[in-house]
Amino acid sequence: MSAEPSIFTRIINREIPSDVVFENDHLIAIRDIAPQAPVHLLVIPKTQAYANVSELAAGDPALLADMVAVARDLAFEHANGEYRLVFNTGATAGQTVFHVHAHVLAGGLEEGSLA
Ligand code: AMP
Repeated sequence: MSAEPSIFTRIINREIPSDVVFENDHLIAIRDIAPQAPVHLLVIPKTQAYANVSELAAGDPALLADMVAVARDLAFEHANGEYRLVFNTGATAGQTVFHVHAHVLAGGLEEGSLA
């Protein structure tokens, strides 16, 4: 775990503006600043203790399950309930923020498109 607040921690702390679409005690969901699909949301645990989904699955599987449930609800709220859930894991896989987050992509995806 980094001592420095991640960009998502700074968003959670309202130090950086974002478009928040959901929030509870443990999770926040925002619109991605660079959308790759008509609906592109990020579901983010408030803790930055887990750098990626593998660490989260090992350390707090209930929190991971909560992320999936929120993704599902958001896909119904913002699209038709169908969605792609992407966890980039590692820099060579495209991960740029090492504070675990799920990309929720929906609303008509190009065949083969990835976040
Ligand atoms: P990843 O590349 O999987 O680590 O995903 C990081 C995502 O965070 C990218 O899709 C970025 O577009 C998104 N992102 C970075 N900064 C912001 C921000 N300030 N507000 C919303 N989304 C952001």
